[in-house]
Amino acid sequence: MEYRKTKIICTIGPATNTLDKIRALAASGMNIARINMSHGEHKSHLEVIQKIKSYNKTAAMPIAILLDTQGPEIRTGDLLQNFTLNVGDVIEITAGGENSESQSVITVNYRDMLKDMKPGDRITVDNGIINLDVVEKTDFGLKCKVVDGGVMKSRRHINLPGIRVNLPSITAKDVQDIMFGIKNDVDFIALSFVRTAADVEECKRMIERYNGHAQVIAKIEDSQAVTNYKEIIAASHGVMVARGDLGVEVPIEELPIIQRRIVKECALQGKRVIVATHLLESMIENPIPTRAEVTDVANAAYEEVDAVMLSGETAAGKFPLKAAETLDKILKRIERTGGIGWSRDFKSDDVKGAFAESAVELADQLKADAVVVFTRRGLTADFVTAYRPKFATVFAFTNMSQVRRKLLLNRACYPFRIDFSSDPERTIKTAFSTLSKKKLLPSGSRIVIVSDIIAGNERVESIQVRTL
Ligand code: PGA
Ligand code: MN
Repeated sequence: MEYRKTKIICTIGPATNTLDKIRALAASGMNIARINMSHGEHKSHLEVIQKIKSYNKTAAMPIAILLDTQGPEIRTGDLLQNFTLNVGDVIEITAGGENSESQSVITVNYRDMLKDMKPGDRITVDNGIINLDVVEKTDFGLKCKVVDGGVMKSRRHINLPGIRVNLPSITAKDVQDIMFGIKNDVDFIALSFVRTAADVEECKRMIERYNGHAQVIAKIEDSQAVTNYKEIIAASHGVMVARGDLGVEVPIEELPIIQRRIVKECALQGKRVIVATHLLESMIENPIPTRAEVTDVANAAYEEVDAVMLSGETAAGKFPLKAAETLDKILKRIERTGGIGWSRDFKSDDVKGAFAESAVELADQLKADAVVVFTRRGLTADFVTAYRPKFATVFAFTNMSQVRRKLLLNRACYPFRIDFSSDPERTIKTAFSTLSKKKLLPSGSRIVIVSDIIAGNERVESIQVRTL
């Protein structure tokens, strides 16, 4: 049995929002479903959540749910009809109004745009496809020259590279969406356009206040977040290298450097990291990826990230299942060759952390097939997976379904829920019989265990080596 180490996140959208498609995506490799709050309404999102939950009721391995907020995103208003912008055209951008009736005026939903921008600044539309340079401020707005032309459509995404956008990091809509997520028991909240660690703390406090249990994934997608990445990583349960927006917010040639820096820092801090966007972009239209895409996916596997994410490929593409299968195939193949092995220099002053590190060292030295870890809140399992065992698959046993789903994000981690006995030896027996009965490991497999044992009247942590 080959266990894929790198987890797969698939965005659910019109191409995949039925129970059958969700089931098929799971069979193709999806571990986590992403619900993108930039599109759709609560009603349709709720239907998707309910379908995933109903899948989970009978599935051998559940699917976790990640709710991705829209964040302080700037958009153009509605147009009466699409129009073409040609290089050299001069158009006007105005803030405030929702609709534009003229072909030479574009409205945006960001009132401070006129204040923030000055001649020479760049405005990017549709993730970099259309580019405008501000030439002049007028009484109505900004006069801009078209640098890269294209077809202007309604409600397009705008980036103002390098500009500190004066919108709250967590908008009123985000608050509503996060509460919706808490109410419906989602496992992760991905916070868009995080700028500082304080943004992450604010989201965590909100989840706590409403008795949620979701973990916070900070999306690093602009230059401010890149500046503050170390603190943001420290404050989060995990981060996402959101290459879509990052690719227009910073010079594009910086992108690979930033990805590497973030992934390395996560290794150092023992935090989870997701690489997102454009991994298999061409598969939105085509049944096979480009060679460059295959190599990009391979790079993420070499870097030993926790997860990779599909967006349009599974949300709206023509080949959503093939895209997930393609990821699965590339990742498994590359994982067989081994990763870069970036140093796991992070040290925890937590006893659990030290035990996890020793257990992984032991597993590597013995070339153990598995590390079995017992974990109530998921902490010990987080530590074990953060130390990246070279060969072993991590089987985590917890007594909480919520914790089980969280661990689906961890690299090389296969989580299960069992009842814990007051006698740790009985709990180990239950875990081992789960491994044998479900044929998760062949008998004779060598296993390193991280568990409590009873020593006299005390429960103490232990590391053990056993054979299944
Ligand atoms: P988005 O975030 O898909 O919500 O924009 C991911 C990215 O920017 O890469
Ligand atoms: Mn984004």
